[in-house]
Amino acid sequence: MAEEIKGTKKGDWPVEIRRSRKRRKTVNAQIKDGVLVVQAPAAMSDRDLEPIIAKLRKRLEAKLVVTPQTNAELEKRAKQLNKKYFNGRLQWEELKYVTNQNKRYGSCSPTQRKIRLNHRLASMPEFVRDYVIVHELAHLEQANHGPKFWELVYNYPLTERARGYLMAVDMEEISGE
Ligand SMILES: [Zn+2]
Repeated sequence: MAEEIKGTKKGDWPVEIRRSRKRRKTVNAQIKDGVLVVQAPAAMSDRDLEPIIAKLRKRLEAKLVVTPQTNAELEKRAKQLNKKYFNGRLQWEELKYVTNQNKRYGSCSPTQRKIRLNHRLASMPEFVRDYVIVHELAHLEQANHGPKFWELVYNYPLTERARGYLMAVDMEEISGE
C-alpha cells in the first residue's frame, strides 16, 4: 500500500512511497501527475528514506519548470472569479487542493462551505482550472446540477471547452452533496 508523507516544502509535491521486494538498494523518484512517486526497497525504513527523498526532491525541483499553484494562490484566484462571475457575493470556509481524488476534478460541500480541487488541476491549463473553480463555487448556491446551476456556470465563457478538456483526460466530478 502507498503511504503519504505530509508537510510540503518547495516542490510542493505530495510523496507516495512504493516499496518493492525486488528492489535491493536503489531509490528512484519521479513526478507522476503532480505526485512525487518514490520506488524504494521493501526493507528500507521511513527514517532512512527521508534524507534520500529530500535529495531527490531537490534534484527534481531544479529540473522542473512547472510550478503547481499553491492553496494561497488558489484562494486568490477564487476571489477574483467570485467577483467576476458572482458579483462577489459568495463566501466559503475552505478551498484547497487535495491529492486523494484521482479521477474526480473537485467537490463542494454547500453545507460546510468547503471546496476541494484535485491537485492535478495545478498543472492543467488556466481556463480548465478556472472553470472547475467556477463550477464548485456555483455549488455554494446550487447544490445540484439543475438548470439554475448551469445558468450560473455558463457565465464563464470557456465552460464548454473546459468540459471537453476534462472529458478528454477522463476526469469527472461524480456528484456528491
Ligand atoms: Zn458539480
